[in-house]
Amino acid sequence: MRIADVLRNKGAGVLTVAPDTLVSDLLSGLVTRNVGAMVVVGSEGLIGIVSERDVVRMLHEHGAGALGRPVVDIMTSEVVTCSPNDTVDSLSGLMTTHRVRHVPVVENGQLAGIVSIGDVVKTRMEALQAEREQLEAYITQG
Ligand code: AMP
Repeated sequence: MRIADVLRNKGAGVLTVAPDTLVSDLLSGLVTRNVGAMVVVGSEGLIGIVSERDVVRMLHEHGAGALGRPVVDIMTSEVVTCSPNDTVDSLSGLMTTHRVRHVPVVENGQLAGIVSIGDVVKTRMEALQAEREQLEAYITQG
């Protein structure tokens, strides 16, 4: 299965924040939208990604006073991305190698979606279930 198939099911929407968004506002967004990461988009497009893990690290290192800092201070700027043509298997390898749980999808330089490790697990479980049903039908009908 390809990333384009995953996006067809879950949609191409990506939750983004501006680099000057305060970390406290990012936290509200993560909680209310029930997601673990947001893509940071500046005037020149995608410039980073920020996840709940970055907020935890910041709180551990600098304390709650740092909640008033901008997202640009804690985001990761070297973003690992994938293409809609990549396979789900290759993406899961990418996530394991880079130890990330969120990968933005980029097509022709434009943000085209985001895939989380939860989406990968869901896709794999559905594929396994379909395979199981096929095998059961083969056994019972054959
Ligand atoms: P996550 O596992 O997605 O919660 O993120 C763990 C760490 O990796 C955080 O420091 C994130 O900023 C960073 N991160 C998450 N996704 C990506 C990505 N696609 N590319 C680069 N870094 C990422």
